[in-house]
Amino acid sequence: MDGCIFCRIAAHQVNARILFEDEHVVAFHDVAPRAPVHVLVIPRQHIVSLAQVAPGEQDLLGRLLLAAAEAARQTGVAGSGYRVVTNCGASAGQSVLHLHIHVLGGRSLAWPPG
Ligand code: AMP
Repeated sequence: MDGCIFCRIAAHQVNARILFEDEHVVAFHDVAPRAPVHVLVIPRQHIVSLAQVAPGEQDLLGRLLLAAAEAARQTGVAGSGYRVVTNCGASAGQSVLHLHIHVLGGRSLAWPPG
């Protein structure tokens, strides 16, 4: 979508530290990491948030979660543990309106989050 920073990253129009990508998803390092490992996994398709995922999109959701697990493996936190989270909407602090899954690890993570 025009003007969407994550669509532009997926299209290689904006630089990002891409970890891996395929025809459905892109995993890249967060530009302002909140943990030693902080990767974002996005669908290439522009979807605003989890709330806008259409019924029948379970394949895409599965791909995103599998990619999150792969990102944890590739960044070396699969063994120590990591957190997978998606912020959905204003109250949750979503700042980029393109569905993304945060993969956070490499330090102890408090629970519940703030
Ligand atoms: P959220 O607040 O859940 O919407 O998360 C958006 C995330 O995107 C934040 O952690 C930002 O640091 C990250 N971010 C924003 N712009 C970029 C960018 N150009 N490259 C990588 N990460 C970005």
